[in-house]
Amino acid sequence: MIVKTDTQEFQNYLSDASNYSGTADKVFLPETEKEIIEIVKDANQTKTRITISGNGTGLNGGRVPEGGIVISLEKLNRILELNTAEKFVRAEPAVILKDLQDYVEEHKLFYPPDPTERNCFIGATAATNSSGARTFKYGSTRNYVLAIRVVLANGETVFLEREKQKVENYTAKITTEQGNVISIQVPQFVMPNTKNASGYFCKSEMDAIDLFIGSEGTLGIITELKLKLLAYNDNVLSCVVFFSNEDDAFNFIDETREIAKYNGEISARGLEFFDKHTLNFLRPDYLAIPQNTCCVWFEQELDETEEQLTEAWLELIDKHNADAEKSWIAVDKKEQEKLKDFRHAIAWRVNEAVARRALKKIGTDISVPVNVFRSFYKWMTKLVEDNNIEYVVYGHFGDCHPHLNMLPKDQEDFVRSKELYFEICKEAVRLKGTVSAEHGIGKMKRDYLLMMYGEETIKQMANLKSAFDPNRILNIGNIFEEKYL
Ligand SMILES: Cc1cc2nc3c(=O)[nH]c(=O)nc-3n(C[C@H](O)[C@H](O)[C@H](O)COP(=O)(O)OP(=O)(O)OC[C@H]3O[C@@H](n4cnc5c(N)ncnc54)[C@H](O)[C@@H]3O)c2cc1C
Repeated sequence: MIVKTDTQEFQNYLSDASNYSGTADKVFLPETEKEIIEIVKDANQTKTRITISGNGTGLNGGRVPEGGIVISLEKLNRILELNTAEKFVRAEPAVILKDLQDYVEEHKLFYPPDPTERNCFIGATAATNSSGARTFKYGSTRNYVLAIRVVLANGETVFLEREKQKVENYTAKITTEQGNVISIQVPQFVMPNTKNASGYFCKSEMDAIDLFIGSEGTLGIITELKLKLLAYNDNVLSCVVFFSNEDDAFNFIDETREIAKYNGEISARGLEFFDKHTLNFLRPDYLAIPQNTCCVWFEQELDETEEQLTEAWLELIDKHNADAEKSWIAVDKKEQEKLKDFRHAIAWRVNEAVARRALKKIGTDISVPVNVFRSFYKWMTKLVEDNNIEYVVYGHFGDCHPHLNMLPKDQEDFVRSKELYFEICKEAVRLKGTVSAEHGIGKMKRDYLLMMYGEETIKQMANLKSAFDPNRILNIGNIFEEKYL
């Protein structure tokens, strides 16, 4: 096993894709679960902090160590089994999501979760319950995790399977493979009725596996995953529709969402919005973008009713005052990839512009319930405009999940943007939404989670962690501050 002890050698493990950075004494690169267990047992005895590292694409400092050691899982990167009959794949945690998806597609199978950044480790996507464009139809990673192996903070292991270990009336007993029983009390609070990646997933009756999915490495180290697959359908219609006013685009999205809810004829698998500022950012690379427009990107899987489906979409486009002739429609794989690149380009474009100007961006990850979404969106954009902050807004509007990125031009703007970010999160919480719909809490959004759930719930979350990690060594600082432990 490689152990890196020279700070110069492990600089890249001290940060992630956010601006957060930290320190560590050593970085371990175990090659087997057995080696992980040895490191963890030793750390548990000496009460040394462990931070688990995936591929470092996280946006909240979750894998950034604050002292202690780092366990990077990068060497555990094998696909272990593909069962085409029962449609599942078993994999070690450091298989890259894109590689796993390409591999199963070769076998005509489909793994739906698709965070924009697909260069992440599959184990980390479960640890953060990643989601993406296709979450609109298929839900988040949680829906596809059938089983996980986990190394707990004392070095014991648990194999958690869906439907096998149940939480009943907020309590559960988890038996480790070594025969010890851990009694847990699940925090009692109501999660928002939105897409959500803020804190633990907790319900009165639930599968215990769901406590670990999205727990950001605070409850254990995922060392193996069994993931559900679907049949692959490569017959997909992708489309970018341009609208000259936002209300038309919003009406189009609302109607598409409603139709999907009632299992209507059309059923988008992704439904996303880009405002006019976003399109201005993209225009240098995509000269064909019409001036003064916003747009909606959607994908529809096609079947034998292909013609009726396409016709239904064209009617909907027409009904909401857009021009199908001027829309970008892709049916073959190559054209679809181009539209997907277009959809993904904005995150890179914004990051590039921010880096060029040596600034920091401040981006929201909030979501609110559908009945208040449009008024919330209007309030939020007006707030930022009234404060003269440059911004772009885009994202998963099918799921009422906008990424509003403020682009402060100087330090004064930056401070103001931070204040606006707080106000936006506060309003989202007031409307019974969430402060993080997909990127999670990590170390950077703990104050917002506290605002969302209150101290009593945070204490209950900390107690849950302590039941699995009494010596407080694993991913300390993620989700809540250490003082709550
Ligand atoms: C441009 C860009 C776009 C993005 N778009 C999306 C998006 O659309 N949707 C989305 O959900 N996210 C998105 N992300 C965030 C990020 O890609 C995901 O959170 C991803 O799951 C992180 O994977 P990683 O391997 O890089 O994990 P890391 O950043 O290394 O770690 C993430 C967290 O998981 C923990 N962890 C990692 N592996 C394990 C394990 N095996 N067991 C227990 N804990 C573990 C770490 O300690 C850390 O807390 C985006 C990031 C970027 C840079």
